[in-house]
Amino acid sequence: MKVRIEYEHDVCVGTNACMAADPQHFELLEDGKAHIIGSAQARPEKWSWESDMDENALKTILAAAEACPVNAIHVFVDGVKKI
Ligand code: SF4
Repeated sequence: MKVRIEYEHDVCVGTNACMAADPQHFELLEDGKAHIIGSAQARPEKWSWESDMDENALKTILAAAEACPVNAIHVFVDGVKKI
């Protein structure tokens, strides 16, 4: 399935919750904010990343988005918003 993640860098407050929930997809940048591993778009205030994923990868991405206290991570599956 096609999964798109939208991340709001300007909203992120660097709690590390997404990285704790899904360290395979999220990492901490030197500015103390999150970044999706493999995405080249690290700096714009808002960016998105799209990839084919299986159910297990999607589960961890959704867990990371749900863990975010400021709703900086949004997940779309086949064009439908999940969180
Ligand atoms: S959980 Fe949200 S606020 Fe915390 S680092 Fe991740 S994106 Fe930023």
